[in-house]
Amino acid sequence: MTYVIAQPCVDVKDKACIQECPVDCIYEGDRSLYIHPFECVDCGACDPVCPVEAIYYAEDVPDEWADYVRANVEFFRELGSPQGASALGNLHRDHPVVAAEPVPAR
Ligand code: SF4
Ligand code: SF4
Repeated sequence: MTYVIAQPCVDVKDKACIQECPVDCIYEGDRSLYIHPFECVDCGACDPVCPVEAIYYAEDVPDEWADYVRANVEFFRELGSPQGASALGNLHRDHPVVAAEPVPAR
């Protein structure tokens, strides 16, 4: 298990974490970012820069967001392991756990 991006990132996506990742393994969906479970090297550099504390080591994800551990794995089922998020940009989709989150009022 590796690091996971949980619910607080949804509809925030300021991408501060992306700047810190030495292996470019934080991928962008429509409403959230996702950490690749096999490409992440567990360095922890992304965790302290997240302004909304969305990033957790998988075993430490609060119970209320436990589904996000699965979301960060399953998001990559079709994509495989591209070995680089920045070249792909916004993948314009989300895992169903993220897509089911209520859209904030504007
Ligand atoms: S720093 Fe936090 S809120 Fe910003 S994109 Fe990364 S996980 Fe999402
Ligand atoms: S723990 Fe390190 S390798 Fe994993 S997503 Fe964060 S910055 Fe990238």
